[in-house]
Amino acid sequence: MKLFDLSGKVALVTGGNGGIGLAMAEAMAGAGADIAVAARNAEKGRAAVDKLTALGVKADFIPVDVTDEASIKAMVAAAVDGFGRLDILVNNAGTNIRKRPEALSVAEWHQVIDTNLTSAFIASQAAYAPMCAAGGGKVINIGSMMSLFGGPFHTAYGASKGGIVQMTRSMACAWAADNIQVNAVLPGWIDTELTRLARQDIEGLHERILDRTPADRWGVPEDHAGVAVFLASAASNFVTGTAIPIDGGFSIQI
Ligand code: NDP
Repeated sequence: MKLFDLSGKVALVTGGNGGIGLAMAEAMAGAGADIAVAARNAEKGRAAVDKLTALGVKADFIPVDVTDEASIKAMVAAAVDGFGRLDILVNNAGTNIRKRPEALSVAEWHQVIDTNLTSAFIASQAAYAPMCAAGGGKVINIGSMMSLFGGPFHTAYGASKGGIVQMTRSMACAWAADNIQVNAVLPGWIDTELTRLARQDIEGLHERILDRTPADRWGVPEDHAGVAVFLASAASNFVTGTAIPIDGGFSIQI
């Protein structure tokens, strides 16, 4: 068995049109997987598909709004119809609304929880039957340092990302006997569109992160390439329910 070979496998990546999701998609394509990229922005989606097909695999863009249950179910059905099977689901789509708890509206709370957590539940649930039909599968959920820590501007985001870890563990228990491994990845501070805004808004954030990170740099989306291939491949067949920090040591330094 080639441990890291994904030839013949099909991966669906939510938010795969940029940032961390696209880097994980490119890594899995490099290992031979066909990729369904799902998100709202079709222009970014088409650019991502071009990058992936240039790697010699099949790729397609599926429009989705992950705050909408019907849209998520249609996304999974479109991936199975278009590619013939589904082996790997990366629940990566995410958002943040940076407000203190006293200023966060209930609608904003729901927007963050729906985008980051409920979407992963619905997509995983929809992927279960096709993965069983394929003889097993891999679910990779994207958490955060806010799965582990709190912050004054992270009430909903932290709740969603903490929830991702606990949901991962429960699904891992439920589906182990179906040969479906469910794991979470916890990115540290990564330079993407999401954090570029935070760095503009929060004075001193850039330097504070550097001070606290043993690796002495911000992460880049490509730092997630190895863990994506590992968790998507046979190399991780006895690894389930974990939450793996990709953070240059941020979470282990006091
Ligand atoms: P990006 O903003 O680059 O990516 C977010 C992705 O989510 C985009 O592709 C976006 O696509 C998609 N998305 C957002 N809302 C929706 C929606 N309603 N429906 C469908 N797709 C949606 O940021 P990152 O790459 O940084 O974020 C990816 C994941 O990594 C997120 O879950 C984030 O929380 C997590 N993360 C990031 C960290 C960082 O430091 N950057 C740290 C820890 C975790 P579109 O707008 O086209 O829909």
